[in-house]
Amino acid sequence: MNAIVDLPKDHAGLVGKNIPIYKERGQREVFCGLTGIIWLHRKIQDAFFLVVGSRTCAHLVQSAAGVMIFAEPRFATAIIDDRDLAGIADAHEELDRVVKALLARRPDIKMLFLVGSCPSEVIKLDLSRAAQRLNKEFLNHCRILSYSGSGIETTFTQGEDACLASLVNEIPKPTAVGEKKLLVVGCLPDVVEDQFQRLFTELGIGQVSFFPPKNSQQKIEIDGNTQYLLAQPFLAETARLIEERGAKRISAPFPFGVEGTTAWLKAAANEWGITSPHFEQVTQARIERARKSLARYLPMLENKSISFFPDSQLEIPLARFLSQECGMKVLEIGTPYLHKQHLEAELELLPEHSRIVEGQDVEKQLDRCRSDKPDIVVCGLGLANPLEAEGITTKWSIELVFSPVHGYEQAADLAELFARPLNRSMRLAA
Ligand code: SF4
Repeated sequence: MNAIVDLPKDHAGLVGKNIPIYKERGQREVFCGLTGIIWLHRKIQDAFFLVVGSRTCAHLVQSAAGVMIFAEPRFATAIIDDRDLAGIADAHEELDRVVKALLARRPDIKMLFLVGSCPSEVIKLDLSRAAQRLNKEFLNHCRILSYSGSGIETTFTQGEDACLASLVNEIPKPTAVGEKKLLVVGCLPDVVEDQFQRLFTELGIGQVSFFPPKNSQQKIEIDGNTQYLLAQPFLAETARLIEERGAKRISAPFPFGVEGTTAWLKAAANEWGITSPHFEQVTQARIERARKSLARYLPMLENKSISFFPDSQLEIPLARFLSQECGMKVLEIGTPYLHKQHLEAELELLPEHSRIVEGQDVEKQLDRCRSDKPDIVVCGLGLANPLEAEGITTKWSIELVFSPVHGYEQAADLAELFARPLNRSMRLAA
Protein backbone atom coordinates (compact mmCIF):
# COMPACT_ATOMS: atom_id res chain seq x y z
CA MET A 1 0.00 0.00 0.00
CA ASN A 2 2.47 2.58 -1.16
CA ALA A 3 0.59 5.07 -3.31
CA ILE A 4 -1.79 6.12 -0.53
CA VAL A 5 0.68 8.74 0.70
CA ASP A 6 0.12 10.61 -2.58
CA LEU A 7 -3.55 11.12 -1.87
CA PRO A 8 -4.35 14.71 -0.90
CA LYS A 9 -6.60 14.85 2.15
CA ASP A 10 -9.93 16.62 2.13
CA HIS A 11 -9.24 19.64 4.28
CA ALA A 12 -12.97 20.01 4.96
CA GLY A 13 -12.42 17.50 7.74
CA LEU A 14 -12.82 13.94 8.79
CA VAL A 15 -15.99 11.87 8.75
CA GLY A 16 -17.47 9.15 10.93
CA LYS A 17 -14.87 7.61 13.18
CA ASN A 18 -12.23 10.11 12.10
CA ILE A 19 -12.10 8.57 8.63
CA PRO A 20 -10.30 10.89 6.20
CA ILE A 21 -11.69 11.44 2.74
CA TYR A 22 -9.05 11.64 0.03
CA LYS A 23 -9.85 13.52 -3.12
CA GLU A 24 -8.57 12.71 -6.58
CA ARG A 25 -9.00 14.36 -9.93
CA GLY A 26 -7.88 12.90 -13.22
CA GLN A 27 -8.99 10.59 -15.96
CA ARG A 28 -12.35 8.97 -15.28
CA GLU A 29 -13.89 5.73 -16.48
CA VAL A 30 -17.65 6.08 -16.11
CA PHE A 31 -20.84 5.82 -18.15
CA CYS A 32 -23.04 8.85 -18.68
CA GLY A 33 -26.52 9.48 -17.24
CA LEU A 34 -28.30 8.06 -20.29
CA THR A 35 -27.67 4.66 -18.75
CA GLY A 36 -30.35 5.39 -16.12
CA ILE A 37 -33.00 4.88 -18.81
CA ILE A 38 -32.37 1.12 -18.45
CA TRP A 39 -34.12 0.96 -15.09
CA LEU A 40 -36.20 4.16 -15.26
CA HIS A 41 -38.25 2.95 -18.24
CA ARG A 42 -39.16 -0.22 -16.35
CA LYS A 43 -40.25 1.74 -13.32
CA ILE A 44 -42.58 4.39 -14.72
CA GLN A 45 -44.72 2.13 -16.81
CA ASP A 46 -46.44 4.65 -19.07
CA ALA A 47 -43.38 6.84 -19.68
CA PHE A 48 -41.21 7.07 -22.78
CA PHE A 49 -37.62 8.31 -22.92
CA LEU A 50 -36.60 10.10 -26.10
CA VAL A 51 -32.87 10.73 -26.13
CA VAL A 52 -31.95 13.69 -28.31
CA GLY A 53 -28.45 12.69 -29.27
CA SER A 54 -26.02 11.12 -31.69
CA ARG A 55 -25.62 7.58 -33.02
CA THR A 56 -23.17 6.97 -30.15
CA CYS A 57 -25.91 7.80 -27.64
CA ALA A 58 -28.31 5.49 -29.50
CA HIS A 59 -25.76 2.66 -29.41
CA LEU A 60 -25.14 3.19 -25.71
CA VAL A 61 -28.80 3.04 -24.80
CA GLN A 62 -29.54 0.12 -27.14
CA SER A 63 -26.61 -2.00 -26.08
CA ALA A 64 -26.92 -1.18 -22.39
CA ALA A 65 -30.65 -1.83 -22.29
CA GLY A 66 -30.90 -4.51 -24.96
CA VAL A 67 -33.64 -4.47 -27.55
CA MET A 68 -37.08 -5.17 -26.16
CA ILE A 69 -38.40 -7.79 -28.55
CA PHE A 70 -41.67 -8.71 -26.91
CA ALA A 71 -42.94 -5.26 -26.02
CA GLU A 72 -43.21 -1.90 -27.72
CA PRO A 73 -39.99 -0.15 -26.76
CA ARG A 74 -40.20 2.74 -24.32
CA PHE A 75 -37.02 4.51 -25.25
CA ALA A 76 -35.57 5.75 -28.52
CA THR A 77 -33.07 8.24 -29.87
CA ALA A 78 -33.88 11.21 -32.07
CA ILE A 79 -30.57 11.34 -33.89
CA ILE A 80 -29.00 14.72 -34.43
CA ASP A 81 -27.51 14.49 -37.93
CA ASP A 82 -25.19 16.61 -40.04
CA ARG A 83 -28.00 18.92 -41.20
CA ASP A 84 -28.87 19.77 -37.58
CA LEU A 85 -25.22 20.24 -36.67
CA ALA A 86 -24.58 22.49 -39.67
CA GLY A 87 -27.65 24.57 -38.82
CA ILE A 88 -29.30 23.70 -42.17
CA ALA A 89 -32.32 22.18 -40.44
CA ASP A 90 -34.07 23.85 -37.51
CA ALA A 91 -33.44 21.36 -34.71
CA HIS A 92 -36.53 22.53 -32.78
CA GLU A 93 -38.79 21.95 -35.79
CA GLU A 94 -37.23 18.55 -36.38
CA LEU A 95 -37.74 17.60 -32.74
CA ASP A 96 -41.39 18.72 -32.80
CA ARG A 97 -41.94 16.60 -35.89
CA VAL A 98 -40.40 13.51 -34.27
CA VAL A 99 -42.40 13.98 -31.03
CA LYS A 100 -45.69 14.47 -32.89
CA ALA A 101 -45.10 11.36 -35.01
CA LEU A 102 -44.20 9.36 -31.89
CA LEU A 103 -47.25 10.45 -29.88
CA ALA A 104 -49.58 9.91 -32.85
CA ARG A 105 -48.32 6.34 -33.19
CA ARG A 106 -48.16 5.65 -29.45
CA PRO A 107 -51.19 7.15 -27.66
CA ASP A 108 -50.35 4.92 -24.64
CA ILE A 109 -47.44 7.23 -23.75
CA LYS A 110 -48.62 9.49 -20.93
CA MET A 111 -45.29 10.96 -19.92
CA LEU A 112 -42.51 11.79 -22.33
CA PHE A 113 -38.99 12.64 -21.19
CA LEU A 114 -36.82 14.52 -23.66
CA VAL A 115 -33.36 13.44 -22.56
CA GLY A 116 -30.47 15.78 -23.37
CA SER A 117 -27.06 14.45 -24.39
CA CYS A 118 -23.59 15.84 -25.09
CA PRO A 119 -24.45 16.56 -28.78
CA SER A 120 -27.75 18.32 -27.93
CA GLU A 121 -25.88 20.46 -25.40
CA VAL A 122 -23.10 21.24 -27.88
CA ILE A 123 -25.61 22.66 -30.37
CA LYS A 124 -27.39 24.39 -27.45
CA LEU A 125 -30.72 22.74 -28.11
CA ASP A 126 -32.87 23.98 -25.24
CA LEU A 127 -34.95 20.91 -24.34
CA SER A 128 -36.74 22.59 -21.43
CA ARG A 129 -38.09 25.18 -23.89
CA ALA A 130 -39.04 22.39 -26.31
CA ALA A 131 -40.85 20.55 -23.48
CA GLN A 132 -42.80 23.70 -22.53
CA ARG A 133 -43.80 24.29 -26.14
CA LEU A 134 -44.86 20.69 -26.73
CA ASN A 135 -46.67 20.52 -23.39
CA LYS A 136 -49.07 23.22 -24.57
CA GLU A 137 -49.84 21.19 -27.66
CA PHE A 138 -50.35 17.87 -25.88
CA LEU A 139 -52.11 19.26 -22.82
CA ASN A 140 -54.38 16.65 -21.14
CA HIS A 141 -52.89 13.90 -23.26
CA CYS A 142 -49.22 13.60 -22.37
CA ARG A 143 -46.90 15.41 -19.95
CA ILE A 144 -43.58 16.33 -21.51
CA LEU A 145 -40.51 16.85 -19.35
CA SER A 146 -36.82 17.21 -19.99
CA TYR A 147 -33.58 16.43 -18.24
CA SER A 148 -29.94 16.03 -19.15
CA GLY A 149 -28.31 12.62 -19.38
CA SER A 150 -25.07 13.95 -20.84
CA GLY A 151 -21.94 13.10 -19.09
CA ILE A 152 -18.30 13.85 -19.46
CA GLU A 153 -18.10 14.97 -15.85
CA THR A 154 -20.97 12.91 -14.46
CA THR A 155 -21.59 9.32 -13.56
CA PHE A 156 -24.39 7.04 -14.69
CA THR A 157 -26.58 7.15 -11.57
CA GLN A 158 -26.87 10.91 -11.95
CA GLY A 159 -29.28 10.18 -14.80
CA GLU A 160 -31.84 8.97 -12.24
CA ASP A 161 -31.21 12.02 -10.07
CA ALA A 162 -31.73 14.39 -13.01
CA CYS A 163 -34.88 12.52 -14.12
CA LEU A 164 -36.43 12.51 -10.63
CA ALA A 165 -35.50 16.17 -10.12
CA SER A 166 -37.44 17.04 -13.29
CA LEU A 167 -40.41 15.08 -11.89
CA VAL A 168 -40.29 16.95 -8.55
CA ASN A 169 -40.52 20.21 -10.47
CA GLU A 170 -43.73 18.91 -12.07
CA ILE A 171 -45.51 18.13 -8.78
CA PRO A 172 -48.12 20.82 -8.12
CA LYS A 173 -47.44 22.96 -5.04
CA PRO A 174 -50.13 22.30 -2.40
CA THR A 175 -52.31 25.14 -1.18
CA ALA A 176 -52.48 23.70 2.36
CA VAL A 177 -50.31 21.35 4.40
CA GLY A 178 -51.80 17.85 4.42
CA GLU A 179 -51.51 14.93 6.85
CA LYS A 180 -48.20 13.51 8.02
CA LYS A 181 -46.87 11.23 5.30
CA LEU A 182 -43.82 9.22 4.32
CA LEU A 183 -42.19 9.44 0.91
CA VAL A 184 -39.66 6.81 -0.16
CA VAL A 185 -37.38 8.37 -2.76
CA GLY A 186 -35.44 6.42 -5.38
CA CYS A 187 -36.23 3.77 -8.00
CA LEU A 188 -36.97 0.40 -6.48
CA PRO A 189 -38.05 -2.70 -8.40
CA ASP A 190 -41.80 -3.27 -7.99
CA VAL A 191 -41.30 -6.44 -5.97
CA VAL A 192 -39.14 -4.56 -3.44
CA GLU A 193 -41.55 -1.63 -3.31
CA ASP A 194 -44.41 -4.02 -2.50
CA GLN A 195 -42.37 -5.65 0.28
CA PHE A 196 -41.59 -2.27 1.85
CA GLN A 197 -45.20 -1.15 1.49
CA ARG A 198 -46.33 -4.25 3.44
CA LEU A 199 -43.74 -3.56 6.15
CA PHE A 200 -44.78 0.08 6.57
CA THR A 201 -48.45 -0.94 6.73
CA GLU A 202 -47.74 -3.58 9.39
CA LEU A 203 -45.68 -1.08 11.35
CA GLY A 204 -48.61 1.32 11.30
CA ILE A 205 -47.22 3.99 8.98
CA GLY A 206 -50.36 4.67 7.00
CA GLN A 207 -49.73 7.19 4.28
CA VAL A 208 -46.71 6.03 2.27
CA SER A 209 -45.82 6.95 -1.33
CA PHE A 210 -42.95 5.82 -3.49
CA PHE A 211 -41.16 8.21 -5.79
CA PRO A 212 -40.96 7.82 -8.74
CA PRO A 213 -44.47 6.37 -8.90
CA LYS A 214 -45.19 3.26 -10.97
CA ASN A 215 -47.53 5.26 -13.13
CA SER A 216 -47.46 8.87 -14.28
CA GLN A 217 -51.09 9.34 -13.21
CA GLN A 218 -50.31 8.50 -9.58
CA LYS A 219 -50.41 11.65 -7.44
CA ILE A 220 -47.47 12.55 -5.22
CA GLU A 221 -47.83 15.18 -2.51
CA ILE A 222 -44.87 16.98 -0.99
CA ASP A 223 -45.38 19.58 1.71
CA GLY A 224 -44.19 20.60 5.17
CA ASN A 225 -45.74 17.45 6.65
CA THR A 226 -43.76 15.09 4.41
CA GLN A 227 -40.90 13.09 5.83
CA TYR A 228 -38.79 11.31 3.27
CA LEU A 229 -36.45 8.34 3.28
CA LEU A 230 -33.84 7.99 0.57
CA ALA A 231 -33.71 4.51 -0.94
CA GLN A 232 -30.68 5.39 -3.08
CA PRO A 233 -27.59 7.38 -2.09
CA PHE A 234 -27.21 9.25 -5.39
CA LEU A 235 -30.17 11.63 -5.34
CA ALA A 236 -28.60 14.88 -4.18
CA GLU A 237 -30.50 17.23 -6.50
CA THR A 238 -33.83 15.43 -6.08
CA ALA A 239 -33.46 15.61 -2.30
CA ARG A 240 -32.61 19.30 -2.46
CA LEU A 241 -35.77 20.05 -4.47
CA ILE A 242 -37.93 17.92 -2.19
CA GLU A 243 -36.60 19.84 0.82
CA GLU A 244 -37.33 23.14 -0.92
CA ARG A 245 -40.99 22.03 -0.73
CA GLY A 246 -40.65 21.78 3.06
CA ALA A 247 -40.14 18.01 3.38
CA LYS A 248 -37.74 16.69 6.03
CA ARG A 249 -35.22 13.90 5.40
CA ILE A 250 -35.09 11.03 7.86
CA SER A 251 -31.41 10.28 8.38
CA ALA A 252 -30.69 6.55 8.10
CA PRO A 253 -28.32 4.02 6.59
CA PHE A 254 -29.56 2.67 3.24
CA PRO A 255 -31.65 -0.53 3.16
CA PHE A 256 -28.91 -2.89 1.99
CA GLY A 257 -28.50 -6.07 4.00
CA VAL A 258 -30.30 -7.09 7.17
CA GLU A 259 -28.78 -4.44 9.42
CA GLY A 260 -29.13 -1.63 6.88
CA THR A 261 -32.79 -2.49 6.24
CA THR A 262 -33.57 -2.70 9.96
CA ALA A 263 -31.90 0.65 10.67
CA TRP A 264 -33.70 2.27 7.71
CA LEU A 265 -37.11 1.02 8.83
CA LYS A 266 -36.36 1.86 12.47
CA ALA A 267 -35.51 5.46 11.57
CA ALA A 268 -38.97 5.87 10.02
CA ALA A 269 -40.65 3.96 12.88
CA ASN A 270 -39.06 6.34 15.40
CA GLU A 271 -40.46 9.35 13.55
CA TRP A 272 -43.94 7.78 13.75
CA GLY A 273 -43.56 6.95 17.45
CA ILE A 274 -43.80 3.19 16.89
CA THR A 275 -42.80 1.24 19.99
CA SER A 276 -39.80 -1.10 20.01
CA PRO A 277 -41.86 -4.21 20.88
CA HIS A 278 -44.18 -3.59 17.93
CA PHE A 279 -41.22 -2.90 15.62
CA GLU A 280 -39.62 -6.18 16.71
CA GLN A 281 -42.86 -8.07 16.29
CA VAL A 282 -43.13 -6.90 12.67
CA THR A 283 -39.48 -7.35 11.71
CA GLN A 284 -38.16 -10.25 13.82
CA ALA A 285 -39.26 -13.18 11.63
CA ARG A 286 -38.07 -11.41 8.49
CA ILE A 287 -34.71 -10.61 10.11
CA GLU A 288 -34.22 -14.23 11.14
CA ARG A 289 -35.16 -15.52 7.69
CA ALA A 290 -32.85 -13.01 5.99
CA ARG A 291 -29.93 -13.85 8.32
CA LYS A 292 -30.40 -17.54 7.61
CA SER A 293 -30.35 -17.00 3.83
CA LEU A 294 -27.38 -14.65 4.09
CA ALA A 295 -25.42 -17.21 6.15
CA ARG A 296 -25.17 -19.47 3.07
CA TYR A 297 -22.79 -17.01 1.41
CA LEU A 298 -20.66 -16.05 4.40
CA PRO A 299 -18.08 -18.88 4.06
CA MET A 300 -17.30 -17.55 0.57
CA LEU A 301 -17.08 -13.89 1.64
CA GLU A 302 -15.59 -13.82 5.14
CA ASN A 303 -12.04 -12.44 5.31
CA LYS A 304 -11.94 -11.81 1.55
CA SER A 305 -10.68 -8.37 0.56
CA ILE A 306 -12.51 -5.97 -1.74
CA SER A 307 -11.85 -2.62 -3.42
CA PHE A 308 -14.36 -0.32 -5.07
CA PHE A 309 -13.62 1.83 -8.11
CA PRO A 310 -15.77 4.97 -8.19
CA ASP A 311 -18.81 4.34 -10.37
CA SER A 312 -22.34 3.82 -9.06
CA GLN A 313 -22.29 5.97 -5.88
CA LEU A 314 -23.51 2.87 -4.03
CA GLU A 315 -19.96 2.14 -2.92
CA ILE A 316 -20.17 3.36 0.68
CA PRO A 317 -23.41 1.55 1.67
CA LEU A 318 -22.17 -1.62 -0.06
CA ALA A 319 -18.79 -1.43 1.69
CA ARG A 320 -20.65 -1.08 4.99
CA PHE A 321 -22.84 -4.12 4.22
CA LEU A 322 -19.92 -6.28 3.11
CA SER A 323 -17.74 -5.41 6.11
CA GLN A 324 -20.46 -5.29 8.78
CA GLU A 325 -22.57 -8.26 7.70
CA CYS A 326 -20.33 -10.40 5.52
CA GLY A 327 -16.98 -10.06 7.29
CA MET A 328 -15.13 -8.79 4.21
CA LYS A 329 -12.04 -6.58 4.44
CA VAL A 330 -12.60 -3.37 2.52
CA LEU A 331 -9.31 -2.02 1.18
CA GLU A 332 -10.44 1.05 -0.75
CA ILE A 333 -13.82 2.68 -1.27
CA GLY A 334 -13.68 4.83 -4.37
CA THR A 335 -16.78 6.89 -4.98
CA PRO A 336 -17.42 9.53 -7.66
CA TYR A 337 -19.15 11.91 -5.22
CA LEU A 338 -19.73 11.77 -1.51
CA HIS A 339 -22.75 13.54 -0.03
CA LYS A 340 -21.69 13.79 3.61
CA GLN A 341 -25.19 14.46 5.01
CA HIS A 342 -26.92 11.71 3.06
CA LEU A 343 -24.19 9.22 3.94
CA GLU A 344 -23.66 10.36 7.53
CA ALA A 345 -25.29 7.27 9.09
CA GLU A 346 -23.38 4.94 6.73
CA LEU A 347 -20.00 6.54 7.45
CA GLU A 348 -20.53 5.94 11.16
CA LEU A 349 -20.79 2.20 10.48
CA LEU A 350 -17.67 1.81 8.34
CA PRO A 351 -14.59 0.14 9.82
CA GLU A 352 -12.19 2.59 11.44
CA HIS A 353 -9.35 2.36 8.95
CA SER A 354 -11.43 2.68 5.79
CA ARG A 355 -9.73 4.39 2.88
CA ILE A 356 -12.30 6.53 1.11
CA VAL A 357 -11.33 8.24 -2.14
CA GLU A 358 -13.72 10.70 -3.75
CA GLY A 359 -13.34 11.41 -7.48
CA GLN A 360 -11.11 9.46 -9.81
CA ASP A 361 -7.66 9.34 -11.29
CA VAL A 362 -7.94 5.94 -12.88
CA GLU A 363 -4.22 5.26 -13.41
CA LYS A 364 -3.35 6.01 -9.80
CA GLN A 365 -6.23 3.92 -8.56
CA LEU A 366 -5.17 1.02 -10.75
CA ASP A 367 -1.66 1.28 -9.25
CA ARG A 368 -3.09 1.13 -5.73
CA CYS A 369 -5.33 -1.76 -6.70
CA ARG A 370 -2.39 -3.78 -8.10
CA SER A 371 -0.43 -3.06 -4.96
CA ASP A 372 -3.36 -3.99 -2.64
CA LYS A 373 -4.20 -7.20 -4.56
CA PRO A 374 -7.85 -7.40 -3.43
CA ASP A 375 -9.70 -10.69 -3.86
CA ILE A 376 -12.43 -8.86 -5.76
CA VAL A 377 -12.85 -5.42 -7.34
CA VAL A 378 -16.15 -3.65 -8.00
CA CYS A 379 -15.80 -1.47 -11.10
CA GLY A 380 -17.40 -0.24 -14.31
CA LEU A 381 -17.65 -2.36 -17.45
CA GLY A 382 -14.72 -0.59 -19.08
CA LEU A 383 -12.28 -1.66 -16.39
CA ALA A 384 -13.60 -5.15 -15.72
CA ASN A 385 -12.07 -6.94 -18.71
CA PRO A 386 -8.55 -5.47 -18.38
CA LEU A 387 -8.56 -6.28 -14.65
CA GLU A 388 -9.79 -9.83 -15.28
CA ALA A 389 -6.99 -10.19 -17.84
CA GLU A 390 -4.57 -9.30 -15.04
CA GLY A 391 -6.06 -12.07 -12.90
CA ILE A 392 -8.17 -9.81 -10.68
CA THR A 393 -11.75 -10.96 -10.02
CA THR A 394 -14.33 -8.26 -10.76
CA LYS A 395 -17.97 -7.40 -10.24
CA TRP A 396 -19.74 -4.94 -12.53
CA SER A 397 -21.06 -2.08 -10.46
CA ILE A 398 -23.94 -1.38 -12.87
CA GLU A 399 -25.44 -4.79 -12.05
CA LEU A 400 -25.87 -3.63 -8.45
CA VAL A 401 -28.10 -0.78 -9.60
CA PHE A 402 -30.57 -2.68 -11.72
CA SER A 403 -30.77 -5.89 -9.68
CA PRO A 404 -33.26 -6.07 -6.79
CA VAL A 405 -30.87 -5.70 -3.83
CA HIS A 406 -32.75 -3.64 -1.22
CA GLY A 407 -34.56 -5.07 1.78
CA TYR A 408 -34.63 -8.24 3.87
CA GLU A 409 -35.68 -10.64 1.12
CA GLN A 410 -32.86 -9.47 -1.15
CA ALA A 411 -30.02 -9.41 1.44
CA ALA A 412 -28.82 -12.89 0.46
CA ASP A 413 -29.13 -12.08 -3.26
CA LEU A 414 -26.92 -9.05 -2.70
CA ALA A 415 -24.28 -11.17 -0.97
CA GLU A 416 -24.53 -13.73 -3.76
CA LEU A 417 -23.66 -11.06 -6.35
CA PHE A 418 -20.21 -10.90 -4.72
CA ALA A 419 -19.92 -14.57 -3.78
CA ARG A 420 -20.58 -15.81 -7.33
CA PRO A 421 -17.51 -14.24 -9.04
CA LEU A 422 -15.31 -15.24 -6.10
CA ASN A 423 -16.58 -18.79 -6.34
CA ARG A 424 -16.00 -18.87 -10.11
CA SER A 425 -12.41 -17.59 -9.71
CA MET A 426 -11.73 -20.15 -7.02
CA ARG A 427 -12.97 -22.97 -9.21
CA LEU A 428 -10.94 -21.72 -12.19
CA ALA A 429 -7.83 -21.53 -10.05
CA ALA A 430 -8.45 -25.05 -8.76
FE1 SF4 B 1 -24.06 10.46 -25.73
FE2 SF4 B 1 -22.43 12.03 -24.27
FE3 SF4 B 1 -23.41 9.76 -23.24
FE4 SF4 B 1 -21.55 9.66 -25.16
S1 SF4 B 1 -21.28 10.51 -23.09
S2 SF4 B 1 -23.42 8.40 -25.05
S3 SF4 B 1 -22.15 11.42 -26.43
S4 SF4 B 1 -24.59 11.57 -23.85
